[in-house]
Amino acid sequence: MENKRYYGIDIGGTTVKIGLVENGAVLKKWSVPTDTSNGGKNILPDIIASLPGPAAGAALAVPGAVLPDDTVNKCVNLGWGVCRPTDDFTAATGIPCRVLNDANSAALAEQRLGGGKGFESILFVALGTGVGAGVVLDGAVRVGARGSAGEIGHLCIDPEDKDAACTCGHYGCVETYASATGITRLAALAGRPGLSCKQVVDAAAAGDETLLAVVDRACDVLGRGIAGACAIIDPEAVVLGGGVAQAGEFFRRKVQAAFDKYAFHACLGTEIRLATLGSDAGMLGAALYAEG
Ligand SMILES: [Zn+2]
Repeated sequence: MENKRYYGIDIGGTTVKIGLVENGAVLKKWSVPTDTSNGGKNILPDIIASLPGPAAGAALAVPGAVLPDDTVNKCVNLGWGVCRPTDDFTAATGIPCRVLNDANSAALAEQRLGGGKGFESILFVALGTGVGAGVVLDGAVRVGARGSAGEIGHLCIDPEDKDAACTCGHYGCVETYASATGITRLAALAGRPGLSCKQVVDAAAAGDETLLAVVDRACDVLGRGIAGACAIIDPEAVVLGGGVAQAGEFFRRKVQAAFDKYAFHACLGTEIRLATLGSDAGMLGAALYAEG
């Protein structure tokens, strides 16, 4: 039976991860390179050419803002401007298609199948080059009026910190401290330039005092940002994903401690958990979203 099978398609800046999923189980998964030349015009045709056959639906997870009407509001990493890729996908394949932001997609997968399993409402925070986020309330992804619900990476923590220029044009956003880029930036400011984020966190865990102070600062800012978000959406749990969160329990405990320090008293008890699906989360979430 083909009619319960859905394609989850996670379009990253270098690789597209594709899975054929049925009832949350991956039947088959593969990837194709992301061809960002020519304004990313080849990306969809390359994906479509790799599909083995029909399916009941598909969803694209993209690294950019997605409006509630399926309009993608720019994906700089793909070369895409404002566009409607779902129309092109369906016209070429006959398969109904939806689109969502990649962090929102990962949020849905973690809520249904991963670190947030058992909860109906979570805030998912993806710590990578930047800080992405997704909100799942009552089992459904909530994107907001402009597709930016939950974007705690751009909560402004310290607008006077002129060392902390953010990609969004402001200063002192959460992302400038707590992303991988932010952590390496703080390490360089502390006199330890040229280290990767993983090197910084590993050295901190091993007791390097300078780098421990760097990680403490990153986790303090992140915990404060999460506390602000929880005062507004009050999820049952917060799930930390992305490369930085692979630092594991050492990192999670620090974020939980900072959250507990800053949270509104009624939000205390919100668990900070680690994601469990790794880099498959975006693809899995897209398939779940396609299913509706
Ligand atoms: Zn920002």
